[in-house]
Order: sequence, then structure tokens, then C-alpha cells
Amino acid sequence: MQDTRLLIDGRWAAGSKGERLEVFNPATGEVFGHAAVATAEDIERAAAAAHGAFAAWSKVSGFERSGLLKAAAALLKERIETIAPILTQEQGKPLSEARGELGNAVNLIEFFAEEARRIYGRDIPGRTPAVVQTVRKEPVGPVAAFTPWNFPVAQSCRKIAAGLAAGCTVVLKGSEETPHSVAALVGCFVDAGLPAGALNLLYGDPAMISSQLIADRRIRKVSFTGSTPVGKKLAALAGAHMKRTTFELGGHAPVLVFRDADIDQAATRLAGAKYRNAGQVCISPTRFLVEEDVLEEFTDKFVAQVKAVKVGNGLDPQSTMGPLANPRRIDAMERLVADAVAGGATLAAGGSRIGNAGNFFEPTVLTDVPTTIAAMNEEPFGPMALIRPFKGIDEALSEANRLDYGLAAYGYTRSSETAHRMASGIETGMLSINHHGLSLPETPFGGVKDSGYGSEGGVEAVEAYLNGKFVTHATF
Ligand code: NAD
Repeated sequence: MQDTRLLIDGRWAAGSKGERLEVFNPATGEVFGHAAVATAEDIERAAAAAHGAFAAWSKVSGFERSGLLKAAAALLKERIETIAPILTQEQGKPLSEARGELGNAVNLIEFFAEEARRIYGRDIPGRTPAVVQTVRKEPVGPVAAFTPWNFPVAQSCRKIAAGLAAGCTVVLKGSEETPHSVAALVGCFVDAGLPAGALNLLYGDPAMISSQLIADRRIRKVSFTGSTPVGKKLAALAGAHMKRTTFELGGHAPVLVFRDADIDQAATRLAGAKYRNAGQVCISPTRFLVEEDVLEEFTDKFVAQVKAVKVGNGLDPQSTMGPLANPRRIDAMERLVADAVAGGATLAAGGSRIGNAGNFFEPTVLTDVPTTIAAMNEEPFGPMALIRPFKGIDEALSEANRLDYGLAAYGYTRSSETAHRMASGIETGMLSINHHGLSLPETPFGGVKDSGYGSEGGVEAVEAYLNGKFVTHATF
């Protein structure tokens, strides 16, 4: 049984009232562990610790910060085999995917460690030789970071490692549903020798923690990953307190499959991407728009791939898709399938819950989907592919841009002209053509429109934790 505590000012401790939340294994429905609940007093101490530690951490050289982050990455790498089963048992994903997420987390920390040494300002030549103008890059200050349950470790790394690399200190609220793997990640930073207070970890009532931290004048930056409705609330709160922000919110990724595409390749790659993490991925391909001449061929090949997906407990090496992370997702899938069928869509695969124990749901494919059904408008965030034909690129682009989401988009074509039209015509933060190449540490990661703003990958991710201070100095 796991028992996760809060980390405040370098000490792991129970919440000041001793309250704990239960954490469930989504494959069995049984209690897997507990997480400590932070009180208002604990939240206050965490903000004070991050504020206190900032003075020293922001002055540590980029070279030293880099070394410390690299040491944390090395510890995480050593501990992958210990943490992966914990992640699987609290989140549901197959063990191979849990190892993959942790490996990605190591890569993220290593990338941001390298970037810590490359935070440069710039010189702007003065209008007279006696004037020296510089832009200094300075860390924004203590950060409040909020991460969800779908990639609890990797999403936390994007914020912790980029923030610490820039010289910020962090108060992280991980998801209460997947607290143990995040605490294990945070433990790597502590054991690597991060100074007390530079990284703090809280769990509890999300709304209480976010409203208290965002309003706290010592917190200078807010970074949130989660749903669009919650993101909008936190953006409003952050606006009221004039905080720097990064929001990585929901998506409803369109996939455009053109008649000149390699259909075998598209069906295989898309089926692999769609059912990863049981579809609970903000960049999951969701609206499959297929040029009508190849609709039948694509659908048959895609459905054949989907039928080969093996759903089961993530600890079983045979499973290629685990349970959904929580019962809310089962309710959502059942509601969306019923609404789609009532609205005229055809179930080509899946559509039902599997068994009564655990949150297992069949990999689902719906075809002939009208744009009016709920699933074509709200993010399914589950193992559901929605297939719809199109005639000509204009129709496809118009459907791709119909929703307010704009996180990821995918395209399959052999035509460079079509690829170019997608690149310039789709309103999205990220576009991947003929493969699934999103989410590398060194590439930008973020959305537009209701999918949020700011980037959590690439050099842009570090920039989000820096202020540019302009200094002009007359030397006469
Ligand atoms: P939700 O909207 O209740 O919560 C989403 C996340 O925000 C959770 O991690 C939750 O702990 C956190 N949260 C909720 N209220 C908060 C508050 N006031 N302050 C701070 N954090 C708060 O939804 P859910 O049922 O947990 O997840 C379902 C939806 O969330 C999905 O449909 C999807 O759109 C979205 N989601 C997106 C991502 C992503 O990677 N962008 C990840 C997880 C969930």
C-alpha cells in the first residue's frame, strides 16, 4: 500500500490535519494507497518555502543547476523499474507505456538540464558608443504548477524541470488520482540534492490549492495542464492577479487522410497512436477525416488494427491497452457512444464497457459520424475514433478548424502541395504529417484557441519561466 506525503521546505510530512485521500487502482477498483491532504496552513508554508528558496536558487549558476537536474534525471533512470509498476497501478496504462513515460521524463529533464546552461541575454548596440544596452534573462520567481493524471510524471517534468532550469522554485500540485508516481519523481530531485524549498509537492482540494496559490503575491507564474473549463477558470484568476501563465488544455485533434496517402501506414500508425494510454491523451487523433475515395479501404484496415488491441490489466504483459484512469471516463464513453448512435453514427468496433470490475472499455470506432453528435464537439478523452468522409481539401480544412480546440493535428499525404496547404491552413499548435512526431523534449508543445497558450517543450518552454529585463547604461 502506497502512502504519499506532502513535500514542504525539504520535509516529507502528513497534512497538518492528518487527512488522507484514497487512491484507487483503475484495473481492480481496489484501494492502492493514500495521499496526504494539504490544509490552508500547509499551502501557506509551501508558498513561503518556495519564496524563501528562490533568493538562493535563482543565484545558483546555470552550470550548477544543470548538474543538479542531470543528477535527478540519472536517479529517475535508475528507478524506472521501481516506479513503472506504481504508475501502472494508479493510472492504468500498460507497463511498457509506463516505462515509456518515465523514459520520456528522463529525456525531458536532461533536455532542460542542458538548456539551463544556455540561458543568455542579449546586447543591443546603443545609438552612441557610450551607451550599453542589455537584456538580462531572469527567472520569473516561485511557480504554482498543476498537473493531471494522464501522464502524471511526464507532465510534471515539463513544469518542474523547465522551471528549475530557469532558476525558478516550484510548488507542484500533482493529481490526487495519481500521486505516488509523482512523489517518486519529486524524490529524485530531493535525493539529487535540490535545496530545501526549491520544489514542494501538495495534494488536496484542487480548487482550494489553486485559488490560494494563484492569489498569493509571492507566486509569480502559473502553469496548468488539464481541461479547458478548469483552465479558463484558472486563467481568469491568474489574470486578476496579473500572473505569468502557461495553459496546456484539451484538444480534439483532426486527422486528414488523403487519397494519395499510404493507407496501410496511416491505418497502422493511427491505430497505434489512438489507443495509447486508452486515448486519454490531449494530442490523441480523434476526428478522422478521410477522402471519400479511400474511406472504405482506410476504415477496414483501421478497424482490423483496432480489433487486435488487447485490453487488460496493465501489469499483464499481454495487454496493449489498460483500463480508463477513472470511472468518470467510463461514464463519458457510454454517454458519447449512446448519443452518437442515436444521432445516426454506426458502431464499427467496440462501444461497451468490459466487465464490472475496473474501468475497462472496448477500443471504439464510430463511422458515418454527423458533426452534430456530442463526440464530434467535446473532447472524448478515451478510446474512441470518429471517422467521417470528405470531398476535397477545402472541406477537410474547414472541418479541421470548426472547433474551438487547436492543440494537435495530423495529416497523411504523399503530396507536398497538400502538406503545405495543411501546414498553412490548419489552426493548430502542432501538426504531424505522415508520422506521429509530436512531444519530443526539444520541440514546442502547446496549443492555440481554447487549447491554451504557451509552450511546454523546446527552448520556448524555458523562456516561459524567464523575464527579460532591459538595462541601458551610459558610460560617459
Ligand atoms: P477536470 O476538468 O475535473 O480536471 C482536469 C484536471 O484539472 C485534473 O487533473 C484536476 O485535478 C485538475 N483540476 C480540476 N479543478 C481544478 C482547480 N480548480 N484547480 C486546479 N486544478 C484543478 O476533468 P477530469 O475528469 O479530471 O479530466 C477530464 C478532462 O480533462 C478531459 O476531458 C480532458 O479534456 C481534460 N484533461 C486534459 C489533459 C491534458 O493533458 N491537457 C489531461 C487530463 C485531463
